[in-house]
Amino acid sequence: MKSWGFGIKMKYNKKIEEKILDKIDKVVKTKKVMCPLCKKGSFTMAKGFVSMIILDKFPEGISIGGPHLPNIAIVCTTCGNTMFLNLKVLGFNLK
Ligand SMILES: [Zn+2]
Repeated sequence: MKSWGFGIKMKYNKKIEEKILDKIDKVVKTKKVMCPLCKKGSFTMAKGFVSMIILDKFPEGISIGGPHLPNIAIVCTTCGNTMFLNLKVLGFNLK
């Protein structure tokens, strides 16, 4: 599996948040995205990044600074279902 997390350095701030929300809004509005659990269409975004660690061994394979998936979390405001979108795939390749 490719480690998408290497090379990306970003600090969460209002400017980044607005760029991310702009990309998400385009997808949600044009595709009319609904929550797969409750079928409602109201979401909020967590105010920060979410890193998912990639392991090749479990549980002793965890290393700080190792490969990870850099994501943002989208939370359904009706049922709390949480979905993750990869920042690199969204076009954020800042270093
Ligand atoms: Zn929901």
